[in-house]
Amino acid sequence: MIVVMKAGASQEQIDAVVEAIRKKGLRTHLSAGEERTIVGVIGGIDFEKEDLINHLEAMPCVERAVPVSHPYKFASREWRREKTVVNVAGVLVGGPNLVVMAGPCTVESREQILETAHAVKAAGATILRGGAFKPRTSPYQFQGLGKEALELLAEARDQTGMPVITEVLDTQDVPLVEEYADILQIGTRNMANFALLKRVGRSRRPVMIKRGMASTVDEWLQAAEYVLAEGNANVLLCERGIRTFEPSTRNTFDVNGMIVALSRSHLPVVADPSQGTGRRSMVAPLSMAAVAAGADALIVEVHPDPVHASTDGAQSVNISEFQEMMVEIGRVAAAVRRPIATAESAG
Ligand code: PEP
Ligand code: MN
Repeated sequence: MIVVMKAGASQEQIDAVVEAIRKKGLRTHLSAGEERTIVGVIGGIDFEKEDLINHLEAMPCVERAVPVSHPYKFASREWRREKTVVNVAGVLVGGPNLVVMAGPCTVESREQILETAHAVKAAGATILRGGAFKPRTSPYQFQGLGKEALELLAEARDQTGMPVITEVLDTQDVPLVEEYADILQIGTRNMANFALLKRVGRSRRPVMIKRGMASTVDEWLQAAEYVLAEGNANVLLCERGIRTFEPSTRNTFDVNGMIVALSRSHLPVVADPSQGTGRRSMVAPLSMAAVAAGADALIVEVHPDPVHASTDGAQSVNISEFQEMMVEIGRVAAAVRRPIATAESAG
């Protein structure tokens, strides 16, 4: 439930509302907007709060008490009408510019990550991606370079000035990964790992939550709710394709789901055309479709030599393909009045 205070409600009045809610054994979370304060009620089930709703609505400072219709609150547009803008070390995701994150699926070597980082930066990307801990279907497949990769990503950040996004797979690795990463990525396979979601909810780093490959939009938004409810407001959602009956692509990028997430939530949505298709030739057209449909950012797998990539080579574009697609995306971004963020516009 959320309690919308009347414009200009005094601090004493807000305190009285908070006290009335606490007396019922519930917790609160305040959002001070420009005009009015909104009090979020944490705990309990909304349809059991009729007495409290009546009591609050009888208070002269309360405009209305609204049960939230979705199974999430802080992730919803009802809680926050304005779009959330996540500041990633100076790069604004969810703001007036489209942000492009790019880099290899996996960090393989110093040469590979540095070459890719410089190349994607020159082509217009402003955030560097690269996997250090890889979630592999088989335990016998390459699992990533771990800490060594994090150190290489930090070196690439120092050389290029680009903030870094990388996946954290396990709660016990969060302290290490947050030391190096500017955004913690929660992968599709971990979207419902609630212990991990709660742990990154207590991190000071922004978190990007990939949609589970078999999850509904509301389940995905509830995953975000776990992070938000722990106090971390800097959450990005990432649509990366879902499993369908269609076998011709690795996943089916759900443009519908992305648009639903954009309308139900104030959180920025990132589109991943690489996992979304599994096919290099489809990365550019899908990126353009996602930008046209309102994506706030893209995350693209780029490798200097995709044929020899240790992971996801088939869906990685090479450097010249990335340069070409950035030009095409730039045209669509301009057409929808969301020009691509540059290092300068990022400040
Ligand atoms: C990735 O970004 O390389 C990755 C493993 O993503 P996902 O969790 O979407 O499969
Ligand atoms: Mn990948």
